[in-house]
Amino acid sequence: MISCSIERLEEKIKAFSKFGDTGRGGVTRYSLSKEAIEARNEVKRRMEALGATVVTDDMANMYATIPGTEDLPAIMSGSHLDSVKQGGNYDGILGVLAAMEVVETIVKEKIPHRHPITVVVWTNEEGARFEPAMMSSGVICGKFDKEVMLASEAKDIPGYTFGEALEKSGFKGDVSNRMSPEKYKALIELHIEQGPVLEKEGYDIGVVEGVCGMINYEFTFRGQAGHAGTTPMKYRKDALYAAVKTIQYLHDELDQLDSKLVYTTGKISAHPNIHTIIPEEVKFTLDARHQNPEVIRQVLEIIHKIPKIVEKCEVSYEEAWSRKTVQFTPELVDFVEKSAKDYGYTNMRLYSGPGHDAQYVVDVIPTAMIFVPSVGGHSHCELEYTPLENCLKGANVLLRTLLYIDQH
Ligand SMILES: [Zn+2]
Repeated sequence: MISCSIERLEEKIKAFSKFGDTGRGGVTRYSLSKEAIEARNEVKRRMEALGATVVTDDMANMYATIPGTEDLPAIMSGSHLDSVKQGGNYDGILGVLAAMEVVETIVKEKIPHRHPITVVVWTNEEGARFEPAMMSSGVICGKFDKEVMLASEAKDIPGYTFGEALEKSGFKGDVSNRMSPEKYKALIELHIEQGPVLEKEGYDIGVVEGVCGMINYEFTFRGQAGHAGTTPMKYRKDALYAAVKTIQYLHDELDQLDSKLVYTTGKISAHPNIHTIIPEEVKFTLDARHQNPEVIRQVLEIIHKIPKIVEKCEVSYEEAWSRKTVQFTPELVDFVEKSAKDYGYTNMRLYSGPGHDAQYVVDVIPTAMIFVPSVGGHSHCELEYTPLENCLKGANVLLRTLLYIDQH
């Protein structure tokens, strides 16, 4: 069976790890930074050498297209090349490099294909410097208001906007170049899993059925500040103690629900946060994710059972944000699974916990994703790693999936 080249893929991964290299095995490559522009230029140069035409849209999303034998909409694959601070060499960029390697294999092996094939690079997926994440796929898929996004300010330079970075980048193109159902038939995004399941369960490929729905709640506990040495315990209204009891309650109850539910209290603050003062106000967050909306509803039920008063402290909470479960296109998910089986790669169906550009694109054109294992589940850090053989397996599944789509 036809295979992508492991040597070429390795060369690509090494070459792109130079753009924003931290010197400790990772990269810092914020969207539209000098390092990201260098990486974009390299994608452009390499794709043009393969005969691709490269254009960008008004959000600097980049499309590098090789022609097919027929005048048909293009099949897209790609991801993002920006990273978080001290991120890894695989999140996002592997999806771009795998798509480039697939195109290189198609060109060099002269594999016939009816549809044009496009390598796409989405701008500012991470939202690490300019919030929010998945900004530019979000704009072109109608999720975000473009003007609001252009005004998004850099976290490190007050007043410096995404719009200014866009103008300066040299990659701002025409609105008419945006992805649309008239011009594009489907998107397959390859990505690292960013979690430990594939590695721990011994699977080569994750067949991604969708993206988990999630809720994020912020809880506030109001007590009464007082001197740590003078206020008898029975007169205290300790907001931190009330918060701890509630976190314990949430864990006890949420653990009764489906085993695929994941939930996290990742943020907590105490006021005045002084070691001799009883905490007066404590806030914490709860992030909960599951693919089945019914389980998310059960999570809400558990939240709603929290009494208004806990340990004499007032309790309030509100939804900070939420996301509905996203389903990828079943026909394409089947193609991914079939492609993995064709190569004899072990595979499992799963839902993504993290968000990806593909979750917005699926509202516009048929879309699916391929996951490859993340060693130790590490991601958004320099430890992020996927063995080369697994990267190759992912690229091969991508190649075959694109060819299945081409035939249908
Ligand atoms: Zn990513």
